[in-house]
Amino acid sequence: MAGEEGEEYLFKIVVIGDSAVGKSNLLSRFARDEFDHNSKATIGVEFQTQVVEIDGKEVKAQVWDTAGQERFRAVTSAYYRGAVGALIVYDISRKTTFESIKRWLDELNTHCDTTVARMLVGNKCDLEDIRDVSMEEGKSLAEEEGLFFIETSALNSTNVNTAFEIVIRDIYNNVS
Ligand code: GDP
Ligand code: MG
Repeated sequence: MAGEEGEEYLFKIVVIGDSAVGKSNLLSRFARDEFDHNSKATIGVEFQTQVVEIDGKEVKAQVWDTAGQERFRAVTSAYYRGAVGALIVYDISRKTTFESIKRWLDELNTHCDTTVARMLVGNKCDLEDIRDVSMEEGKSLAEEEGLFFIETSALNSTNVNTAFEIVIRDIYNNVS
């Protein structure tokens, strides 16, 4: 877990969930403070890193993006290997993406042990007008499954950093 040259910690975090829920944009918002209105598969980009400070320590979050593999239900075991944190994302304006969460949790459980820090993320909370999944539904699923829960908007930045930071802090607390 210890990194090199001043970076004391390196945590691999995976972002999973159905296609078009906003995984790539959550990552680009977090790592580069950028948003992309055109959904396009980010071919070739495996992960981005962002350094955050926790209790005065530099923690390097290496956040992995599926690069569109999820469309073919072919997220590989290499993707999950070594992950210590996971954001499991749905789109609050599309119920079907929420209904897929259990399948994503099953997949996560197959590849990673139960100590992985997990955050259930209801993304696109800016789309209140066409909300299809209530905050309560999200919360109660998270409670049932023992996950952190947050609603985010990669579009207007709501809670994006917080979502990653809660996961990173939880991992940090478990290793330090
Ligand atoms: P991915 O397939 O899960 O990686 O999803 P993308 O990040 O490619 O986003 C899919 C689509 O949703 C794109 O058109 C994005 O512009 C849009 N999108 C992503 N995040 C948000 C958000 O927080 N709010 C809104 N309104 N749209 C979003
Ligand atoms: Mg993507």
